[in-house]
Amino acid sequence: KVLLEVSQLHRRFTPEAAPAVERVSFTLGEGELLALLGPSGCGKTTTLRMIGGFEAPDAGTITLRGRDITRLPPEQRGIGFVFQDYALFPHLNVLDNVKFGLRQMTRPDAIARAEEMLALVGLTGLGRRRPHELSGGQQQRVALARTLAVAPPLILMDEPFSNLDAAMRVETRQEVRKLLNNAGSAGILVTHDQEEAMAMADRIAVIEAGRVVQIGTPDEIYRNPVSAFVASFLGRSNILQGTANGMNVTTAFGNLPLSRAANGAVQLAVRPEQIMLDADPDGAASVVGREFRGHDQLYWVQEGERCMLVISGPGATLAIGERVRMRICDCVVPLS
Ligand code: ADP
Ligand code: MG
Repeated sequence: KVLLEVSQLHRRFTPEAAPAVERVSFTLGEGELLALLGPSGCGKTTTLRMIGGFEAPDAGTITLRGRDITRLPPEQRGIGFVFQDYALFPHLNVLDNVKFGLRQMTRPDAIARAEEMLALVGLTGLGRRRPHELSGGQQQRVALARTLAVAPPLILMDEPFSNLDAAMRVETRQEVRKLLNNAGSAGILVTHDQEEAMAMADRIAVIEAGRVVQIGTPDEIYRNPVSAFVASFLGRSNILQGTANGMNVTTAFGNLPLSRAANGAVQLAVRPEQIMLDADPDGAASVVGREFRGHDQLYWVQEGERCMLVISGPGATLAIGERVRMRICDCVVPLS
C-alpha cells in the first residue's frame, strides 16, 4: 500500500546553477525503508527537506496517504524527522526530550509513553540524565525515541549515523531498522554510504546530480546497475569493453552471458568477486597489488594494458609478481 508519493519534485536555488533536485519521483510503501544514496551535493538533503516541509519545491507534488501535503507547514504533515546532529534540547533531561512532542497527552500518559519509548531504544533508567551525559550512540537513540514517540507513519533521517564511530554505526543501523519495523513506521534514509544503504534499506534510490538514476532493491541495483556511475557507487566494479549480441557478449575474456540484453559495442561492469584467479606459471596475467582483509583478499591483476580488481576468499594467498589466469564465471552487466 502506497504511503508517500513524490512526483516531479524540482528545486533550483539560483538561475545560474543546475537544479539541486531535478524532477524526482518515487513512491514509498507503508512501513518501507527507502535510502536516498548519492555523493555529497547530489541533492539528497534538499529532497528530504522538501518532503519534510522545510524547503518549498519550485514544482512537483508530495502526497501522503492520498492527501496533497506539498504546501503544508512541517508540523501539519505528520512526518517525523531525525537530524544529523540529533537536535536534542541540552537543558532538558532525556525523558523530557522524548516527551517533548506529546503535549496533547496528559502528563502521566506522556511520561508512560516516553518511558516505553526509552525502553524500546534500550535506555531504560537513563531518563534523568542530560544529553551531554550520554554517548553519541545513546543520544542518537534518544533522538529516535523522541521521533517514534508520536508514532509518525513516516520518519525522515538525514545521515543519522554520521556522528557515530564505525562500530557504533554498524550496531545502531540494525537497531534503527528493528525499531522502525516494530513501530510500523516507514522511513527515508539519506546517506552517501553505500554499505549503510544496502544493509538497511528495502529499496535504494541512487541519485546523481539531482536526478534519480536507478531505484530498486539493494540486490537488484548491485546485480544490475544501469550505468558506470551506479556500478561504481554501489560496491566496486571493473569496466570492460565488449560487443554484445542479445544475451551474449564477446570480450577479451571470451564469450560471456549478459544480465540483460544489449547489442553492439557496450561497456560492461564486472564485480571483483566474479573473477576467478588460477595460479599458472604460463598465465598471461600477473598479480601487481594485494590487500589482506581477513575475510577476503583484494588483488590487482595486470594483463597487458588492463588492470582488474579481484576479490578472492581468505584461502590460498597469491604473491605479488605471481603469474595467474583470470576467468569470469558469471553474467556481466551492460552499462548504458
Ligand atoms: P546532499 O545532501 O546530497 O549533499 P544538498 O541537497 O545539500 O546535497 O545540496 C544539493 C545542491 O544544492 C548543492 O550544490 C548545494 O550547494 C545546493 N544547495 C543546497 N542548499 C542550498 C541553499 N540553501 N542555497 C543555495 N544552494 C543550495
Ligand atoms: Mg546532505
